[in-house]
Amino acid sequence: MSGRGASGARVIDADVCVVGAGAGGAVAAAELAEGGLDVVVLEQGPRHDADRFSARPLDMLARVYRDGGQTTTLGTPPILLPLGRGLGGTTLVNSGTCFRTPAAVLERWRREFGLEGLSGDALDACFARVEAALSIQEVTPELAGRNAAVARRGAEALGWSHGFLRRNASGCVGSGVCAFGCPTSAKQHVGITYVPRAEAAGARVIAGADVRHVLTAHGQATGVEGRLASGGRIEVRAPTVIVAAGTIHTPLLLARSGLGRGSGQLGRNLALHPATGAFALMDEPVDMARGVPQSFYVDEFAAEGIMFEGVAGPPSYVAMSLPLSGKRHADAMASYRRLAMFGLMVSDSSRGSVRALAGRPLIRYELVEEDVARFRTGLRHMEELFRAAGAREVYLPLPHGVAPERARARDLKLMAFHPLGTARADARPQHGVVDGDLQLHGVRGVHVADGSVVPSSLGVNPQLTIMALATRLAFGLLGRAVPPTLEEVPCPS
Ligand SMILES: Cc1cc2nc3c(=O)[nH]c(=O)nc-3n(C[C@H](O)[C@H](O)[C@H](O)COP(=O)(O)OP(=O)(O)OC[C@H]3O[C@@H](n4cnc5c(N)ncnc54)[C@H](O)[C@@H]3O)c2cc1C
Ligand code: SF4
Repeated sequence: MSGRGASGARVIDADVCVVGAGAGGAVAAAELAEGGLDVVVLEQGPRHDADRFSARPLDMLARVYRDGGQTTTLGTPPILLPLGRGLGGTTLVNSGTCFRTPAAVLERWRREFGLEGLSGDALDACFARVEAALSIQEVTPELAGRNAAVARRGAEALGWSHGFLRRNASGCVGSGVCAFGCPTSAKQHVGITYVPRAEAAGARVIAGADVRHVLTAHGQATGVEGRLASGGRIEVRAPTVIVAAGTIHTPLLLARSGLGRGSGQLGRNLALHPATGAFALMDEPVDMARGVPQSFYVDEFAAEGIMFEGVAGPPSYVAMSLPLSGKRHADAMASYRRLAMFGLMVSDSSRGSVRALAGRPLIRYELVEEDVARFRTGLRHMEELFRAAGAREVYLPLPHGVAPERARARDLKLMAFHPLGTARADARPQHGVVDGDLQLHGVRGVHVADGSVVPSSLGVNPQLTIMALATRLAFGLLGRAVPPTLEEVPCPS
């Protein structure tokens, strides 16, 4: 039902209102709608049209990223933290890499956070179901391209553990611009998979709807209210609200709604999985822009919290990222065809926080010495990897003249793509914002289904974890077991 309220707001009644159409929100919305519930999805960003994706980084940054991709943390070093915005959320701009949550992480959640229901066995069907929905498969060596071949050669020479990554892509042509909107729609992001499924099952998906408050009465969800980009207010009346605005914006929405603050943990425990990238000048043509940018990994040092994954881009992207200046930059760019690139991510012990300042997120994050040491070790190994692959020169992301073993926090040039933890799950109300079923402690009907509930660093890319948790939540609300395959979707009566 839909109409106008006394205040002139557009008012919609529904069984469930989902806030945010990214990894968590879109998955929960589709499963609930297919399960027979009346679902409304409110997404702050726009509906994107892949026919208008130009594959030009500078043009696309402004269109598919929040604030043009310039979200940054306050601390040493400052860290660029790009976020997607629109139907698909950050999955629209991500690299497509898919890892299940490592077993050791799930065991840690059980031990430290009392999350007994999230064992590998319990999540198995959720992972399988998402993997089927997103056509997740391993990248072939041909599609991975020569940038991956460089890393593979180095890892094989050193005897380091490595492999091709699994990704949610179907019909990928290796155009190399995943982070700027896949122009062929090969990447199976949730904006072209789960969102259309939700709509086909009757969900009303409204883009350009900025949710300002989650509404409750007597400890029970009653809906949400927000502003429409087209002008005017919107109110959704629903006994179940799923907040999935992402790790940075979910705590702000809950805080301004006066919710989730009982434990004192809201907006805290921010893990980032900080990352950096290094370059090498090879003798052979690499043409890094041809092939899947993130197609290969080296996990030899994963137990130490150091993970290497591919990264690459067209000349305009490399020109922005090369840790060189002046003539050295110009010379390296003139040899662009022979440049290789690889990324390094650190499973962080550092923890930051997010709160609102003048209506915008203020993100604080200081890199602790333990993580700086991981970057020092990682950069040394990165140099070894490139040298073993036959690199003529290696360009590490450090100021000129600073060797990895002398690097300080302020010398590191970092980005982060995997923010987690700001509304963390913990079975104990005094330690976490949501419980093991992702319901806010102390409030019935308000759930969270995005990266903010993930209570620790994962050491791997998080989208599959977030989607599996959203799947589990949806089937929990439907009161049904999770079918591991798509064919087994129960028919709504
Ligand atoms: C460049 C890049 C590459 C990445 N590569 C990978 C990868 O290869 N593999 C991987 O696993 N992960 C990757 N990630 C991370 C992954 O995409 C995210 O972890 C995941 O999408 C987070 O899901 P989420 O549901 O928490 O939030 P999001 O997907 O960010 O969705 C949140 C949505 O909520 C909306 N929203 C926010 N506030 C409001 C509001 N008030 N009202 C309404 N809507 C709101 C936002 O606009 C957004 O669309 C990458 C990230 C980036 C930036
Ligand atoms: S490499 Fe594949 S998934 Fe990435 S943008 Fe190109 S076609 Fe899309």
